[in-house]
Amino acid sequence: MIAALDKGQFWSQIDWVLLDMDGTLLDKYFDDYFWEILVPQKYAEKYGISVKKAQKELLNYYRQEEGTLNWTDLDFWSQKFDLDIPALKEQIRHLISIHPYVEDFLQFLKKRKKKVALVTNAHYKSLELKMKKTRLSPYFDRIICAFDIGLPKEKVAFWLKLQKELGFNPQKTAFIDDSEPPLLAAQQAGIKYLFFKSQSSSQLPPKIPLNGFKAIQSFNELM
Ligand SMILES: [Mg+2]
Repeated sequence: MIAALDKGQFWSQIDWVLLDMDGTLLDKYFDDYFWEILVPQKYAEKYGISVKKAQKELLNYYRQEEGTLNWTDLDFWSQKFDLDIPALKEQIRHLISIHPYVEDFLQFLKKRKKKVALVTNAHYKSLELKMKKTRLSPYFDRIICAFDIGLPKEKVAFWLKLQKELGFNPQKTAFIDDSEPPLLAAQQAGIKYLFFKSQSSSQLPPKIPLNGFKAIQSFNELM
């Protein structure tokens, strides 16, 4: 879909590039495996129920917190399930991996002197673990966690506060995410260039955007 764009001209219009972390830069397989397999296993062991029953129960709990800061708050889930969620994440840190072409893309942006921010709903403890494992943090001018703003990316007010914080011109800003609700909120806040990262997990087929956003399967499509 980007093939038709004059890429040189496109990039000349951009000052800031805002990038989501999980599913966009990093393989969401880690998160899916964590919440859908590992946590239910540990929960089932702890409460003496089947893994299947645990998965069903947990899915209900997850759904109740979707689109809120609790959803990514590891301390919230540790308390709720009486499990050490950060320690469990640490156990499977070998599954944390960077999507293809991400580092090339970050270098590409650096060469063109674009301002780059990582903008994530992830909790501080997840962010720290993932940056330690992937060593991507030097590529970012800013790393913004939704907990710093006090709102999740699904809220329009998040983007208005972020704009004040970073001082970007929304007309000269691009934002890329593998989830549509944050893209819709950013759009309402006036951010002009929005891309849906369709391949969030290496283990799942690319998703089709439902709200008319331009989709990219991989970052090589933007270079
Ligand atoms: Mg994501």
